[in-house]
Amino acid sequence: MKGAGPVTGAPQAARAGAWRRDGQFRLRDLPMILMYHGVAEVPEDPNLLCVTPRRFAEQMTWLERHGLRGVGVGTLVNAMRAGRQRGLVGITFDDGYVSVLEAAVPELARHGFGASAYIISGRLGGTNEWDEGPSWPLLSASGVRELAAAGLEIGSHAATHLRLAGAGPEQLESEVGRSRASLAELLGTEIRGFAYPYGSMDAAAREAVREAGYDYACAVEASMAEAGLMALPRMYIGQQDDAARMAAKRLLYRGRIALRGRR
Ligand SMILES: [Zn+2]
Repeated sequence: MKGAGPVTGAPQAARAGAWRRDGQFRLRDLPMILMYHGVAEVPEDPNLLCVTPRRFAEQMTWLERHGLRGVGVGTLVNAMRAGRQRGLVGITFDDGYVSVLEAAVPELARHGFGASAYIISGRLGGTNEWDEGPSWPLLSASGVRELAAAGLEIGSHAATHLRLAGAGPEQLESEVGRSRASLAELLGTEIRGFAYPYGSMDAAAREAVREAGYDYACAVEASMAEAGLMALPRMYIGQQDDAARMAAKRLLYRGRIALRGRR
């Protein structure tokens, strides 16, 4: 295991209990979670969804140099429950692009890092047709199995990439509940994690995720009032994020979440 090993003790464990009761937590206990989509060299990327393999390598090296270890969010949540999340950073990939298997997995392996990939259960082998812009291939069923075999945590990114804020009970059931069941069947394992498409969620969506049996869910711009195990805030990382910007983003991470709550 590379990176700084977390130091644990009784006071830390007691603090962890503060958020465990209601699934919410204090700002200073909030670990950093990075959000990626594709890792590929692409001719055009108007929605800024890809980082090049070279940039991704730089960013992973930056984490390691700063004594941080990249892990999947399931692992991070376990560590949070034990009050041992110090030095850990969640790494996530939304949508399930083929490029994650091709380019991110080998780089993660070089650093001994883990990560989570959130898969759209009803679009296996398809493309990102919900986006306006270039079309990129999504992993097929066998590709998702390969990703899991490579050690990535597989979670759900809904069934069709529907925006969940404002969705009705039937839509929530099919996007949240059925997608969990179908990925569990595909992999023969429990699916613990969910990531809201577009980061779009409301109280009903968070409740649907909890009801469906997920252990946690990743949001994007969750405020401190919404933040909790059913809405873990994440930070977008893109091609522009060189070492200096990574350092600035790390410094500002908690402050930005705190400010969101006051808007
Ligand atoms: Zn997505």
